[in-house]
Amino acid sequence: MTAAPRLVLATHNAGKLRELRELLRGQVPGLDVDTQVVDAAAAGAPDVVETGVTFAENSLLKARAVAAATGLVAIADDSGLAVDVMGGAPGIFSARWAGRHGDDQANLELLLNQVADVPDAHRGAAFVCAAALAVPGTPEEPGREEVEYGQLEGTLLRAPRGAGGFGYDPVLQPLGGDRSCAELSAEEKNAISHRGKAFRALLPAIISALQEAGE
Ligand code: IMP
Repeated sequence: MTAAPRLVLATHNAGKLRELRELLRGQVPGLDVDTQVVDAAAAGAPDVVETGVTFAENSLLKARAVAAATGLVAIADDSGLAVDVMGGAPGIFSARWAGRHGDDQANLELLLNQVADVPDAHRGAAFVCAAALAVPGTPEEPGREEVEYGQLEGTLLRAPRGAGGFGYDPVLQPLGGDRSCAELSAEEKNAISHRGKAFRALLPAIISALQEAGE
């Protein structure tokens, strides 16, 4: 018999679920990460409209809605690219910067054109991630909520490089490196990524929420 799910990740992205399972493996006594850590679809949770205006708000909206819909501890993330000379844009609009949600190629081309005249010394940018935890509440008491952050700082290249990754990976070169994020292996990227840092920072809260829910 498959054990009942205990933790839901508010995403439809299989790569994110895989990363989270690896992060949690062996961390919580009695938790079978392969069957008890599931995504929103497996938990029957609805899609959540991201009406927040910050990464933190959007990650909390998603985690809260999924916790309420499933009665399980839920986590969510929201992320994007923040370019220094653009005051942090594309930011929460990263996935639809060129107008259509998820058109990575168009987003990246528009961004490169916008900063074409910016000299190398001012091409700083970072991937930013907020990761949120929400514990289901009761009619008497709202559930616990926490948000943690992670950043991957780098420099915007002048043309895309590399075939790996997704989104803006081909145009961000991490500080101190000489390859774009799309030229790193998945392991190399995960080790330094904004999402990895945010989820690792949230790990103690996830562990204690799961232990409390299991009591
Ligand atoms: P989401 O938080 O997964 O919805 O990501 C929002 C958007 O930010 C993505 O569609 C990408 O355009 C961008 N983004 C977030 N994280 C990354 C990353 O690690 N590499 C490249 N682009 C990213």
